[in-house]
Amino acid sequence: MKAVRIHEHGGLEALRYEEIPEPICNDEKVKVQIKSASLNHLDIWIREGFPGMPLPLPLIMGSDGAGIISEVGKNVNDWKVGNEVVIQPNTFCGECDYCKNGKENYCKNYGIIGETENGVQSEFVVLNPINIYPKAKHLSFVDASSMQLVYLTSYQMLITRANLQPNETVLIYGATSGIGSAGIQIAKHLGTKVISTVGSDNKIEYAKQMGSDFVVNHSSENWSKQVKEIVGKKGVNVIFEHPGTATWENSMRLLAKGGRVVTCGATTGPIVKLDLRHLFMKQQTIIGSTMCDMKSFKQVMKHIENGDYKPFVDKVYPMSEIAEAHKRIEDREQIGKVVVSVE
Ligand SMILES: [Zn+2]
Repeated sequence: MKAVRIHEHGGLEALRYEEIPEPICNDEKVKVQIKSASLNHLDIWIREGFPGMPLPLPLIMGSDGAGIISEVGKNVNDWKVGNEVVIQPNTFCGECDYCKNGKENYCKNYGIIGETENGVQSEFVVLNPINIYPKAKHLSFVDASSMQLVYLTSYQMLITRANLQPNETVLIYGATSGIGSAGIQIAKHLGTKVISTVGSDNKIEYAKQMGSDFVVNHSSENWSKQVKEIVGKKGVNVIFEHPGTATWENSMRLLAKGGRVVTCGATTGPIVKLDLRHLFMKQQTIIGSTMCDMKSFKQVMKHIENGDYKPFVDKVYPMSEIAEAHKRIEDREQIGKVVVSVE
């Protein structure tokens, strides 16, 4: 079968579209014929490698996918050949105290499909039953494969961790990024007032379509002033952080009394300044968040099934053109999700 793998970390040249043996399904697992797989910024980081954090190589790429079950292990009861499924990308032991208490993403054996073990950018993948979930019937394979990772990340941030409320205001950086677009839709569905940022004016319309009430261009010098004009002295209740160094000081300046900054990334740098006096006087909270627990995952899937959260696919490439797909994300040309389909 064909698969997208890396044998070493590096630039676009590290991506190989190559022939490898089809995985064998054992009694406890299911085999899925992948129809479509989507890319996340995570794919770029994994390709480049994390300093001090070795990944198993060679590695099949991809954490998000959708397909059809082609084989079911003898001891698996809940699934049938022909079922249409999406990938649930969290992996965890299921037995530790964290897992037993519904905090699977705190598990010491926590991992992500496509990062700590082989991913789904291949014609077939063998998985534990916990790593598949029924595909929403109204969605195509392309649309269905594009939603899990971004929605579960943003949902965990805004709903599970920051406890966002309908009568609040949220600031979301990067409206055209996957987690940004998902974050806007999650907040909007809740009824929250949404301010989002974009890097160029041609992305403003898209940010509004996703559900932003206000959009500011963060490449203009006075963008934070524009946000202040929208929210007034009260400030922003919840800030959806992922840029890190470049936005942090403005985030803290814009944050309301009792406000929460929730962060899942550091794309412009991980080291930030903090004035503790403002933090305690304004009784603010800084929250870290990564991936999601299974309860949040199921809630996300219910919202997708109900049509509350919609797909936002930018472009679909054949899987053989994986390097082009990575390049589109690296060059920040994408507006929404980049997907590869299996021919
Ligand atoms: Zn565990």
